[in-house]
Amino acid sequence: MTFLRETDHPWFQGHEFVDVRAPELLERLRPLPTEGKPAAWVLDLDSTLFCVGPRVRASFDRFLREHPKAPLEWHRVLPFLTAQTLRYSLERSFREILERWNSREEAAVKAKELWEAFHEPWKTAFFSNRFLYLDEPYPGAREFLASLRESGRELVYLTGRDAPRTKAGTLEALRLSGFPWDAGCHLFMKPDGETSDLDYKRRAISVLRQRFGVEALLDNEPENLVMFAKEVPEAEIVFFHSIMSPRMPTGELRRYLQDRKLWRLVSYV
Ligand SMILES: [Mg+2]
Repeated sequence: MTFLRETDHPWFQGHEFVDVRAPELLERLRPLPTEGKPAAWVLDLDSTLFCVGPRVRASFDRFLREHPKAPLEWHRVLPFLTAQTLRYSLERSFREILERWNSREEAAVKAKELWEAFHEPWKTAFFSNRFLYLDEPYPGAREFLASLRESGRELVYLTGRDAPRTKAGTLEALRLSGFPWDAGCHLFMKPDGETSDLDYKRRAISVLRQRFGVEALLDNEPENLVMFAKEVPEAEIVFFHSIMSPRMPTGELRRYLQDRKLWRLVSYV
């Protein structure tokens, strides 16, 4: 599976990433004093371990089926909506697909109309159990997590998904994907859909630090990474480069990182 990596986030400017593959990252980590606590890796799910492309596509497919009067052109978009074209902004994904056979201006207008119609159905389907089982692990992610478990590390799946709407589907997706799920694996989900991912993860991380020696935190969202760098000064901060929200983190990452590197995980293999 190849997938799109967004590169035009303003956060990219002014940071020095150290590009690394997962096995090499493990070799380069400093030994962690864990004070008798189990060493753990904290892992985000969406767009870090799982590519959400198939879930988005399935929700768009269902939307089209339920709207028989949808313009034919919307049906033409469907086969192009893949991991290679999926951006964080779906409107932008639609625009770029529509530009294949429309002028830029026409594509922009049509993408806006399409997104206005699809936004609510997308939200309902995306934040539900319905299509979670379709999410695909990034290449090598399963094997890498298995090797972390074999080395005795515990795994904490820390996600912005909320338990009421998506717990059953998340457990099923973990099982189907073959990601480790045993007594040394833990799932932390938001208690509701209202709390922001950032606030929830900040609260969760203070609990996790009591229980685990957190060795590394993996996430695709700049604002989460900056918060992790501030709140967990002993852990490695690992950016998984895929797609990301346009939100800009608050706070100066360089200051929080101190002498740590800013790892950019380019591959799990
Ligand atoms: Mg994510």
